Amino acid sequence: MKIDFHVHTNASVDSSIDVRDLLMKAKKVGIIPAITNHNKLVFPKRTFPYIPGEEIMTEDGEVIGLFLNEEIKSKLSLGETLDKIREQGALSVAPHPFSPLRHGIGMHSKGVDIIEVFNGRQHPDTDELAERFAKEWKKPIVGGSDAHFLFEFGRCYTEIPDMELEPKKILRALKKPKIHRYKTNFARLQAAKLAFKMKQVSRGQNPFYPASQTKQKIFKKRARK
Ligand SMILES: [Zn+2]
Repeated sequence: MKIDFHVHTNASVDSSIDVRDLLMKAKKVGIIPAITNHNKLVFPKRTFPYIPGEEIMTEDGEVIGLFLNEEIKSKLSLGETLDKIREQGALSVAPHPFSPLRHGIGMHSKGVDIIEVFNGRQHPDTDELAERFAKEWKKPIVGGSDAHFLFEFGRCYTEIPDMELEPKKILRALKKPKIHRYKTNFARLQAAKLAFKMKQVSRGQNPFYPASQTKQKIFKKRARK
């Protein structure tokens, strides 16, 4: 079975993907998405299987929770966040752990269940660091597209034997997955980002990410004046 372990929808401020379109494409290409929005857990109607998740901003960087039942608050310490993920019987992933630009948790990845060793938007060098780290600490691994636009979903995915979507079984299979390593189309991504930001500006939304909810509100207030 094919799973993309890192996908956003428009429940994230920086993504334009309508979740219905995502599940339609998922069905077409036969890839199960883990829906991992920034600090938000969503449960769309299951027109195709998916893994409910959240990419949570902690005080120490970002961590993903997979198979969550309840949303986890952002800005807690990493330790507290990992406890909350564990309490739900869910799995933790270190996304882009060695990215200097994208809130990777670096060496703290020792404490998580799974290491993301391939990220569709990440520089290959930082992927390689993550891969070496995972090998050294004998951690299960995944690859994900980190898609924020629909065209990005479906290029990169992780393949494991067919099984039921159950955290413990999936974790075991991720000791030896086959990762299909295709980066996003960066030229197309830049164009999509620019078009998306222009749309945000025309709606009076703050196009600068990461932007807190408060910043978004201030921007809206200013735009109204
Ligand atoms: Zn992400």
